[in-house]
Amino acid sequence: MDRSTPENSPSGPRIVDVLVPVALDRAYSYRVPRGIDLQPGDVVSVPLGAREVTAVVWAENHAPDPRLHNRLKDVSEKIDVPPLRAELRTLVDWVANYTLSPRGMVLRMTLRMGEHLGPERVRAGVRLVGPPPQRMTPARRRIIECLGDGLLHGKSDAAREAGVSVGVIDGLVDEGTLAVEPLPKQPAPPPPDPTFVEPDFSPDQTAAAQTLREMAAGEAFAVALLDGVTGSGKTEVYFEAVAETVRRGRQVLILMPEIALTGQFLDRFAQRFGVKPIEWHSELTPRTRARNWAAIAAGEAHVVVGARSALFLPYANLGLIVVDEEHDQAYKQGDGVHYHARDMAVVRAHIAKIPIVLASATPSVETEVNARKGRYTRVPLPSRFGGQHMPQIEAIDLRRAPPPRGRFISPLLAEAIRHAVEKREQALLFLNRRGYAPLTLCRACGHRFSCNICDAWLVDHRFRQRLVCHHCGFSIPRPHQCPHCGAEESLAAIGPGVERLQEEAAALFPDARTMVLSSDLITSIETMRAELNEIAEGRVDIIIGTQLVAKGHNFPRLNLVGVVDADLGLSNGDPRAAERTFQLLNQVIGRAGREQGRGVGYLQTYQPEHPVMKALVASDRQAFYDTEIDLRERTLYPPFGRLASMIISAGDRPTAEGFARKLASAAPRDEAVQVLGPAEAPLAVVKGRYRFRLLVKSARGVDLSGYLRDWLAVAPKTKGNLKLEVDVDPQSFL
Ligand code: ADP
Ligand code: ZN
Repeated sequence: MDRSTPENSPSGPRIVDVLVPVALDRAYSYRVPRGIDLQPGDVVSVPLGAREVTAVVWAENHAPDPRLHNRLKDVSEKIDVPPLRAELRTLVDWVANYTLSPRGMVLRMTLRMGEHLGPERVRAGVRLVGPPPQRMTPARRRIIECLGDGLLHGKSDAAREAGVSVGVIDGLVDEGTLAVEPLPKQPAPPPPDPTFVEPDFSPDQTAAAQTLREMAAGEAFAVALLDGVTGSGKTEVYFEAVAETVRRGRQVLILMPEIALTGQFLDRFAQRFGVKPIEWHSELTPRTRARNWAAIAAGEAHVVVGARSALFLPYANLGLIVVDEEHDQAYKQGDGVHYHARDMAVVRAHIAKIPIVLASATPSVETEVNARKGRYTRVPLPSRFGGQHMPQIEAIDLRRAPPPRGRFISPLLAEAIRHAVEKREQALLFLNRRGYAPLTLCRACGHRFSCNICDAWLVDHRFRQRLVCHHCGFSIPRPHQCPHCGAEESLAAIGPGVERLQEEAAALFPDARTMVLSSDLITSIETMRAELNEIAEGRVDIIIGTQLVAKGHNFPRLNLVGVVDADLGLSNGDPRAAERTFQLLNQVIGRAGREQGRGVGYLQTYQPEHPVMKALVASDRQAFYDTEIDLRERTLYPPFGRLASMIISAGDRPTAEGFARKLASAAPRDEAVQVLGPAEAPLAVVKGRYRFRLLVKSARGVDLSGYLRDWLAVAPKTKGNLKLEVDVDPQSFL
């Protein structure tokens, strides 16, 4: 048989189905022009309407309707990058099916390579070769001086360095003074060296590392829960699985919540393996993004450390996935394709038949249940490395020992901070609230400042001198006068945010150096890394932070953590409120006492008898999980039952509510599925849109995605500015 013939039937041209990375679920048929050989997975360029788009051949179309032949368009060209492997195409189909997202939108996540498509372009270099030009100008002189060494320089680099336009260089090339030559391709970075610096492990660590190494060597699907207390050396231990996989010549993906991807982590990796890993996150420049994408697809990137979107990259030979801080909410994408990167990572590992390590000090209830049932292998690290103790935790009962009026730091906590500062240790005040105060009101008329287009108070941000809506970003300058009654000097800030706490801490400890760490004050990953380093180097005495400080950093002199409002996350109607609060507080207090001295955590609370507070104070993790798992089992909440949300929104309330009702009444009857609602969403208005919610609850074994699909097929369609979002396994209930 002649394999090169691009024909699939003697009667007509060959047809392939191509998936385009836009909001479409089905693949479109295109003709394959003679001379191009295409296989499923090949990356191609195709006409779509008036545009040319990058797309992927999804399948051979063996039985096309002959009447269509002449109406189909041709594939324009095959792009010279490695094809998307079957494993990744299966994942795209799977995720689309599960999340009810158009397949094209999932495909889009795999092609995120920026504008530089295809193999890395050859970059132009420029060199001084001839006599000076007839006419000399200051710009020409500068570029000639800059190239005076006679070596090959990057063309645009040289122009930038000399402060001239590229046109100046081109002019000199025309005159024969300079010559353009291609720059040699940058060599691939050396691979990580598994033996670069091998750590000395404690007996617990040795055992855990051994288990993970064997799993990595098994090259088969298996899930491990690396279950280690804060400071136990989970990173060091999972690096052994990374080392084993690298030894076997396969790629590793380490997923992290984006803000935990710190400079300190990259340095630790380099200390262990001699080189830094390849990064993948939202702030890469388009060129780096394109280069990293190409290196991953070519198998030249050996270890990739990335935020959740790194899961969808086209690894040439993925051999291991690690999900660090697996319980973190940041793994759930809240818009577009509503996927949970930890869960989909397990799916990818299963499809690719490779091992996966989930690491956490406070596993998600789902993962804990899987470990208890033996579906995941628990790999425990029960104590801190180097004999450090776990922090001792105490509750401060705010009913008995409240702070002075208008203040938020209780006398007990203030005393503890004073001791810490005197001993030249660091203290961390934790409050998960950005800004100065969550509410501003007029003492004269009671007017409260709220967002024009959301159902939310405006948050006072004093550094920026504005009142800001945390849902849509709307802001106004901080007023000096009440817009309602005209009173002056009548506005009062109600409640604390981190900026207000800093003011209080500075007043209490005028000699201490304070720093606020909050996402709104940080402009980039770079500045965040710089600030974290400043703290790690001990140039700050009191850190005041939001959950940004909870993750992924060692502060050697930090021994005291004060949680200013431990109850904050408990009362928001979220079925995971207790779990989240437990995880967050455990993690933030776990920053204390990691390297020397004894860590202490204080929880300021109005409900010290709450099971979360009791479990934290008793350092009894088991008790917390027992209670929580029991509750979920009785109420059939995940993982004992399944949930999906439908969020209906529209520009006016009656339209949103009316559609939500019609949608609910179209739900197919099924004994194993319950449809709750519609109810007005807790966040009833966002960006001028009125929101209603339906909650769909089913038994564990039900194919909930299939049920939803059947439902949507018979449900009324959204029209006009009505919008319906489906969220399977929702993490947010607002
Ligand atoms: P976790 O992620 O479990 O909270 P880390 O991996 O951050 O803990 O480890 C805590 C600290 O202990 C880090 O500074 C790490 O470098 C150090 N450490 C852990 N294990 C070892 C070891 N075997 N040898 C040297 N240092 C270690
Ligand atoms: Zn708003």
